[in-house]
Amino acid sequence: MKFCNKYEEMMQGLGQKKLPRIGCRKLKNILENCTKQLHSAHDDQDNGDGISTNPQHCSVCEGTFFPLLLKEISAVVGFFNRRAQRLLDHHLASSCCKCFIWLGDRLVGNDVELIKECENLIAYASINAIAMSRILKKYDKIHYSKQGQAFKSRAVSMQIEILQSPWLYELMAFHVNERESKANLGNAPVLFDYGKPSLSFELFDSVKLNIELTCSICLETLFDPISLGCGHLFCYMCACKAGSVSVVDGLKAASRHKKCPVCREVGVYESAMNLEELHILLKRSCPEYWEERRITEKAERLQQAKQHWQSQAARFMGI
Ligand SMILES: [Zn+2]
Ligand SMILES: [Zn+2]
Ligand SMILES: [Zn+2]
Repeated sequence: MKFCNKYEEMMQGLGQKKLPRIGCRKLKNILENCTKQLHSAHDDQDNGDGISTNPQHCSVCEGTFFPLLLKEISAVVGFFNRRAQRLLDHHLASSCCKCFIWLGDRLVGNDVELIKECENLIAYASINAIAMSRILKKYDKIHYSKQGQAFKSRAVSMQIEILQSPWLYELMAFHVNERESKANLGNAPVLFDYGKPSLSFELFDSVKLNIELTCSICLETLFDPISLGCGHLFCYMCACKAGSVSVVDGLKAASRHKKCPVCREVGVYESAMNLEELHILLKRSCPEYWEERRITEKAERLQQAKQHWQSQAARFMGI
């Protein structure tokens, strides 16, 4: 697989040597070994119907291929999430100092580095996502199986699908926010492609990351965006309704059995995350829409808060 070399090359391009990575070569060797053994088994039996495979099970790869890939991809995603969180926290912590520096009307070296690190992290996520996808395709091809695809779906439910990490969405939004404010354009960033709001990031080899910014519940542009544990995006209030909780109780109060309205995964409300950078970006991109939604939701929020406190008071009084 030529991709192994390319992967190593791209990872080296990120400048740091010891980043957690997918051992493409090792995984490829496991698969090659498997192909050889399958062929020799076939020669011994000579049953004349090609390679004998069972799509549900491969005795050669079992215990090697998937556990190794799982271990590596978990390390990659864990590292990515921690780094992205640190970068954004650092940015928030330094924003107050920044106002001061802005007065001097000059770019701070640190900010340029911050944007660069952000780009590198997004590239890191994509390179590894592509690598995982390629190696799983290869697995399915030689085994005539769908196990590779099934692993990908499991990765989503285990929250180790890097392209569905809320930290990736935040980094992409942060990148636009920072770039626009540095360029001092004053214009709203362009988010609307053919009328549909989306956030995209151009990578190498014309690979494009594209994130849809429409809420699948109200079918409007996301307002007050949150991500559920599975990586699906909704307006905060829409997600509260889907989780049958009030805005006062919040998403974490939703029952563990509540499902994501898109992928039907359970247990995803607990790990819901507010997307603050995306919030800033959307608010700047469509200020009129934002204001309109804010006014409509304010009334509903007040209503829910009132009901909440009334029921609390009733419980307290033993009514
Ligand atoms: Zn195998
Ligand atoms: Zn919505
Ligand atoms: Zn989902």
